[in-house]
Amino acid sequence: MSKALVYVDFDDVLCQTADAFLGVVEREFGRRYAFDDIHFFDLEKSFHLNQEEYEHLMGLIHDPSILRIMVPMPGVLDVLKEWAAVGVQTVVVTGRPPETEPVCHEWLERHNIQYDRVLFVDKYGRTPSSQVGVEVVVPENLIDLGFTLAVEDAPAMIEFLVHQTDIPVAVLERPWNRRMDLSRAEGRVVRCKDWLAVGEVLNERVRCSA
Ligand SMILES: [Mg+2]
Repeated sequence: MSKALVYVDFDDVLCQTADAFLGVVEREFGRRYAFDDIHFFDLEKSFHLNQEEYEHLMGLIHDPSILRIMVPMPGVLDVLKEWAAVGVQTVVVTGRPPETEPVCHEWLERHNIQYDRVLFVDKYGRTPSSQVGVEVVVPENLIDLGFTLAVEDAPAMIEFLVHQTDIPVAVLERPWNRRMDLSRAEGRVVRCKDWLAVGEVLNERVRCSA
């Protein structure tokens, strides 16, 4: 499996981000939501926030003190360890703001994740940051990197990968992508209920291309 190069998203793929947000929303706005209430990737909609509250929340959730303590997704560490052992290269592809770079590396190292690099991508058309020294690429830059598989949860990025690239996609099932219609991309997109399923998708891909 030594040639495989895998795109792994950070939030809600490597770590349980939305789950951590629920606590922040309750603490800051006094509103309690359950994980399954997060029907929209757009947190403004899911948590019924006004613009001011949304900006406050975005500031808080990109704070190192919150990002540092995110819990790994169930099963992810075992799968990544197995991949690393057989030479699979992992590139962490995140839409987080580039200012979060130090805490991203800190988190990955703390959990002994072997990764090639963290790639910051402007996934959601957010205002580019002027952070010096951290490159932020546009999604189109992902097209020719030779990914064997992309593991994503965000609807906008899944749409992009499906329609603008040839990269096979493992969609990690979350409440906000459950209703996506992926029927047109059948064969290249696989819905995965957990990381065990993601591991199988890569095995299958590698077997097919061998
Ligand atoms: Mg994500």
